[in-house]
Amino acid sequence: MRIFSVMCMIAAVAVSCGRRPEAENEAPWIVDRFDDIKVIRYEVPGFEQLPLQEKELIYYLSEAAKCGRDILFDQNFKYNLPIRRTLETIYEHYEGDRTVPEWAALEKYLKKMWFANGIHHHYSNDKFVPEFTEEYFRTVASTIPDERFGELNGLFEEVCTAIFDPTLYKTKLNQAAGDDLIATSSNNYYAGVTQADAERFYADMAAADAGNPEPVSYGLNSQLTKTDGRLQERVWKIGGMYSQAIEKIVYWLKKAAAVAEEPQKTNIEALIAYYETGNLKEFDRYNIGWVKDTVSNVDFVNGFIEDYGDPMGRKASWEANVNFMDREACHRTEVISENAQWFEDHSPVAPEYRKKQVKGVSAKVITVAMLGGDCYPATPIGINLPNADWIRKEYGSKSVTIDNITYAYDKAAHGNGFDEEFVLRAEDRARMEKYGKLADDLHTDLHECLGHGSGQLAPGVKGGELKSYGSTLEEARADLFGLYYLGDPKLEELGLVPSFDVAKAGYANYMMNGLMTQLARIEPGKQVEESHMRNRKLIAEWCYEHGADDRVIEWVVQEGKRYVVVNDFEKLRALFGELLHEVQRIKSEGDYEAGKELVERYAVKVDPAVHKEVLERYSALGIEPYGGFVNPEYELVEQDGRIVDVKIAYPANYVGQMLGYAKEYSFLPNRN
Ligand code: ZN
Repeated sequence: MRIFSVMCMIAAVAVSCGRRPEAENEAPWIVDRFDDIKVIRYEVPGFEQLPLQEKELIYYLSEAAKCGRDILFDQNFKYNLPIRRTLETIYEHYEGDRTVPEWAALEKYLKKMWFANGIHHHYSNDKFVPEFTEEYFRTVASTIPDERFGELNGLFEEVCTAIFDPTLYKTKLNQAAGDDLIATSSNNYYAGVTQADAERFYADMAAADAGNPEPVSYGLNSQLTKTDGRLQERVWKIGGMYSQAIEKIVYWLKKAAAVAEEPQKTNIEALIAYYETGNLKEFDRYNIGWVKDTVSNVDFVNGFIEDYGDPMGRKASWEANVNFMDREACHRTEVISENAQWFEDHSPVAPEYRKKQVKGVSAKVITVAMLGGDCYPATPIGINLPNADWIRKEYGSKSVTIDNITYAYDKAAHGNGFDEEFVLRAEDRARMEKYGKLADDLHTDLHECLGHGSGQLAPGVKGGELKSYGSTLEEARADLFGLYYLGDPKLEELGLVPSFDVAKAGYANYMMNGLMTQLARIEPGKQVEESHMRNRKLIAEWCYEHGADDRVIEWVVQEGKRYVVVNDFEKLRALFGELLHEVQRIKSEGDYEAGKELVERYAVKVDPAVHKEVLERYSALGIEPYGGFVNPEYELVEQDGRIVDVKIAYPANYVGQMLGYAKEYSFLPNRN
């Protein structure tokens, strides 16, 4: 399963945090922008300090992570590889006029295709509409010598049809009930197969294995085909479909296994055995070993993992990710968890609603070193694996958040003009800049590790009394717990923050977002529906109203623009405590009427004038809604035939990386 950032769609916090030892390089965070996309680079803090053996392991796993890129292109659509290669050949060799709008449109199309790993949008799944004509495309292609295209010549007509015929291959993934989902989805997981065929084929397979408490994930690693009326799986393995790419992946995995330590060595070998045989039992063996391994500092994902791209939810796209533990961030959540009882005992809620024995949860935080396949360039910010239900039940799962990716999202948001547009006072901007991410991280940690688990119900109250208001009030409770403690001197004492300024950064941002900027995500004329957004509005509006006499929070209008300003951070913290007290009471007593009143009064209704202004100011900033990443580059440093170091570099060139990958990591034939 994947965890996607809500924040990264509309980043509200711009930032940095004090705990990064390395000097940041001066290159811009956003390396390219086109259509609805921005491409960001990410840094890998801590890589240089890793022992040589771990650096080497990361190097080999990273090579393995890049070798399966073509697999994903082919899985997404059977003509993606010839289309991409045709466009790349044109892009590299065209000697005509590159200043005309048609050329810019062609370049944009190719950039979009690289980003989506195919000609369908990575998020909406709709086929891209080219902004250049077929005539232009044919003319440009005709100026390039045939030998440049090689085997692509024979596929040129199919390429043209696929790009330009609007009636064909309209969506990569159709999920409309009633349609034949396989016939109407243009991904390449099935060939010549109807939905009924596929359902029957896998129902038979499951029936033959009925009662097995440890069923494999049938169909996960194959294409289902029908030839002469016979249904058959083409398995993705060495000697099977995609063999040429899988051989390279295995080559690098063997190198990785040679430097890995136990238990990781055995796990990598299990993964190799799976790639060599296609046997899903081996994949389960690998997953069990992987989930049990909590000691290896370097960790990775490499394989056919997520089934979001198959309308039947069976076939998995190829993806990869190499990472290592972010010890400092893990330390943060451990400290919070270890002190869970102190936080509970000092909470501003009524003593009878405090939990007598509370156990915090500590979240694992990782630093990603390489993204590949379906994690590149767009990537989740968190991962929860493995996916097989019985393994999760028997052995648990690993859940991690990727800190350097959220950090890069924040950095990229920083230059987008958002703060300058919506934050009035320079002192607030400076604090957000310095402590915004730390405040955000700590607030999330307190919310997740402690907030939801805190408090207890009155005798006789079962939970569920708050009905449809329950989830908003629950999120408010966890958020308030986090906000209240973000400003507590205890955090300084625990060494988690340098001063109250961290809370000031977090509070100013929270109020601005809750009262104003989050409205950018709401369509004109609509009210606030989503429970996290309702909760933020509830807290912000309630505190605004209850602090009005002391002018704790103020709306300031300057040059016709509205701003939210916090005048008294200490009093605001006290208001958070007061509201937490009340929300906990409502939950503990199951007081439906009071809960309803809070939500309906503060959390739902949108002021149309404020809403209109936010939408206008936001759209004037031109912030792209989707983001993805370029990878760092690693290089082995050798001396007298021995590897003595691994160097890391941060290229800031999206086109260069894509063309480079096409040259160095493209192993599959045009049609598979
Ligand atoms: Zn929550």
